[in-house]
Amino acid sequence: MSLSTPGSSTPASPQHNQQAPTAIAVSLQGVYKEYNNVPVVNNLSFEIQAGEMFGLLGPNGAGKSTTIRMLTTLTKLSQGTIHVAGHDVVCEPWQVRQRIGVVLQQLSVDNDLSVWENMEFHGRMHHIPKSRRQQEIDRWLEYVELADRRDDRVKTLSGGMKRRLQIARALLHQPDILFLDEPTVGLDPQTRRRLWEIIRDLNKQGMTMLLTTHYMDEVEYLCDRIGIMDAGRLIELGTLAEFRQKHGEGMVMQQQGDRWDYQFFPTLEAANAYLDQQLDKTGMMVRPSNLEDIFVELTGRNLD
Ligand code: ADP
Repeated sequence: MSLSTPGSSTPASPQHNQQAPTAIAVSLQGVYKEYNNVPVVNNLSFEIQAGEMFGLLGPNGAGKSTTIRMLTTLTKLSQGTIHVAGHDVVCEPWQVRQRIGVVLQQLSVDNDLSVWENMEFHGRMHHIPKSRRQQEIDRWLEYVELADRRDDRVKTLSGGMKRRLQIARALLHQPDILFLDEPTVGLDPQTRRRLWEIIRDLNKQGMTMLLTTHYMDEVEYLCDRIGIMDAGRLIELGTLAEFRQKHGEGMVMQQQGDRWDYQFFPTLEAANAYLDQQLDKTGMMVRPSNLEDIFVELTGRNLD
């Protein structure tokens, strides 16, 4: 896959991996992960198409990080099969690692090294030849707007800058698929927005992406397709439009003391018609359904 930095007129440099991208970028079949005989990922099966932006949404403890760790060869599966970029994660972990970039929740950058040194270290680990390494480091630091901080120690950067550095580093060896585990957790709204723009831009250029999050707005804004996980299981899979069509596009809300009761209707018109029929409309309102409504409907609780 070839990516270009925004505003640059020069095409991206050729990639070391000349294999044509597979139509199915990620495939999980009957995947289980157990810790102490307790399944924390329970019979997970889904596919991600090349170029897709896929979001795995779920509360803390749902099994999202464990899933991303299995997909990126960092944790062994207990059962099932996973293919990433056409390679089996168990039998061909090295080939998988060559084709993927990973941004984990825990900051994995070295605080005592400079921005540049962090990038350089990663480039060497991936055996990127020196001439291309220098060029690519410049290019990606420019892309995430950290070029002017290249000689600063990482410990002097803000949380958002460190996250951008992680992304730049994950892109250095020109992967086909980028995995992002809770990419904006703990960041302020403005910094989150900036990261969203980077993530969106990379996807627009063709990068396949899987991100995990417990933020509804993040998947609503970024993702083509969503998998909702709860207690290790995939409880819903599809687009937001499909979810709304299935559960109802209109909501009638009714305030009962300090809580809201809700009822789904197939359409907003149907919800309005129901409200019109009520003699006493006190505390009632109609609105379109959203992802949060559907999550609550499926799990019986809110995400934090
Ligand atoms: P999420 O990313 O959705 O918050 P995780 O994948 O981190 O969920 O965790 C899912 C469950 O697996 C949690 O109950 C967690 O405590 C458990 N778990 C994760 N890693 C380990 C481990 N190394 N040993 C034992 N239990 C673990």
